[in-house]
This record gives sequence, structure tokens and C-alpha cells, in this order.
Amino acid sequence: MPNSVSYLPEQKQKHQPPEHKAVPGVKHLIAIASGKGGVGKSTTTTNLALALASTGARVGILDADLYGPSQPRMLGLKGMPDSPDGKILEPMIGHGIQTMSIGFLVDEEAPIIWRGPMITQALTRLMYETRWDNLDYLLVDMPPGTGDIHLTMAQRMPVSGAVIVTTPQDIALLDARKGLRMFEKVNVPVLGIIENMSIHICSDCGHQEHIFGHGGAQRMATEAGTVLLGELPLDLRIRTGSDIGEPIMAAEPGGQIATAYRTIASQLTQIIAESPPAGQGVNELPLPVIVMD
Ligand code: ADP
Repeated sequence: MPNSVSYLPEQKQKHQPPEHKAVPGVKHLIAIASGKGGVGKSTTTTNLALALASTGARVGILDADLYGPSQPRMLGLKGMPDSPDGKILEPMIGHGIQTMSIGFLVDEEAPIIWRGPMITQALTRLMYETRWDNLDYLLVDMPPGTGDIHLTMAQRMPVSGAVIVTTPQDIALLDARKGLRMFEKVNVPVLGIIENMSIHICSDCGHQEHIFGHGGAQRMATEAGTVLLGELPLDLRIRTGSDIGEPIMAAEPGGQIATAYRTIASQLTQIIAESPPAGQGVNELPLPVIVMD
């Protein structure tokens, strides 16, 4: 079958699996992923980072959405990162979050076109050549879907686990399930699922509506043996805040929505604390070799 993914037994692998190289200055590397674009993965990454930071943790974001970086705008960051030695980049700081993005290095309106292995190189450089300063958590805002960046992360980097963001809509859930299975196949533990745009509360009359359906993420979590970390509302303030670089966690830290992000953050930190350290346990399994036939 074209484009199928197959697994070769260990003895048939042509190459040894690549080593997982620790990221200096980072304790836990967490991939924030989605099956589809537009489900709110980047927005959730930003606000989740701020929610984690509100507990006193040191948090960073690596914007690995190399085709469509959005973290600079969402965190209200502009300009180029410093590089005193011309090689290592200092992260930019937005709302207290150490951030690195290809978006700092190219014009916001320029299309970014990657050829083959360049994308892996770019991700590796942004990851290892940023001077992360003593981070408890580095959230990686992944591109949507399942591609080179996901494989590079899983095979080369010590990922503690992945969080999947989805909307409750069937079509989004279908793709989210594919993402989840991909992480299982490359031995990255799925730490949980976040249902975004779960419910809409009318700002005029308070009427509640499940615009994209309801309960799908919980079902998916149960089926996959993982947990639903939380449900986030579809709310105009989340969108406007992201657009102007004032994430809702920073604009309304005492509000109900901020509470929802903090609840997710505290569940997540508990799960990470109880998980085996990255690079142990999960990676005892032979890494798969992906073959396109
Ligand atoms: P992705 O990273 O999955 O492509 P984004 O985070 O860029 O998605 O979000 C897509 C759009 O949806 C953005 O305009 C964002 O502000 C908006 N958005 C995301 N989550 C919410 C939400 N819970 N409520 C309202 N708007 C949202």
C-alpha cells in the first residue's frame, strides 16, 4: 500500500537508532500537537505555558511550527534574538516565557519554504542552539499533522511526552487520533488530551452551546488509555488576546478561563512528575524504522 508505515524488527534495521541528546537548560520537553491546523494548538501552548509559569515553574516555548510560526505574535514579541557569539541564540522573553521561533529570524509575511532535510536541521538548531535558562518545562508548539518534525523530535530528542489538542468535531478528532497513534508508534507517551472550543457561552445572554459537538475528546482519551486534561471554551477573548500578543492568561489571570488553563497545567505537572524520566522506560523499545513503499 503506498505511503504505508512499516516496522522492521531490530536486527533488520540498517542503522542504529539515533541517540537522544539532552537539551541543555531543559528538564522536561513536552510536545503540544494536533492532528489538524486551526484547532487552537498554538493558542493553547501559549496559555498553558503561562499557566505553568503561574505556579512558579520556569517555562519556555519552542515554536516548531516552522511553516507557520505564530508564537512571536501570540506573545507580543518583535525583533531579532541576540547572539553574542554569532551562533547561540538568546531566547526572547514574552510575558516571562523564554521563546524561540523561526518567526524571529524571517519576515512575518515571507513564505517559508523548506527543502527536505533543511527542516530537521532548522529544528535541531533552534532546539540546541538556544540558550535555554534553567527551564522546568519547554513546550514545543508542533506543526499540525504527522511529519518530519515529529519524527526528528521523537527519535533524537528526549521528549517527556505529548499533549494532543483537538476540538470536539468528528473531523478534528479523526486527525487527532492519527496524531496520537503516531506518538504511540514512536514511543513518545501521550500525557493527555485537551479539548479546545468545547463550549461557547454567549457573552450577551449566557446561553451555552456545543458548537463543535461534545464528549469526543473524552471518548478518544478513554479509548487510548490516556486522560482528558481539560476542556476550554470557545471565547472571543481568547482569540482577540492571541491576536494582539496579550494572551488571556496574562490579560485576565483571575478569570474563569485562566482557572481552566491552570487546572490543565496542574494535572499535566502531576502526570509528568509520575512518569518515568524521558529516555528511560519508553525508549527501551527499539525505535521503528519508517519505510515508505
Ligand atoms: P493552530 O495552532 O491549531 O493552528 P491557533 O492557535 O493558531 O490554531 O488558533 C486558530 C485561531 O483560533 C486563532 O485565531 C485563535 O485565536 C483562535 N482560537 C484558538 N482557541 C480559541 C478558543 N478557545 N476560543 C476562541 N478562539 C480560539
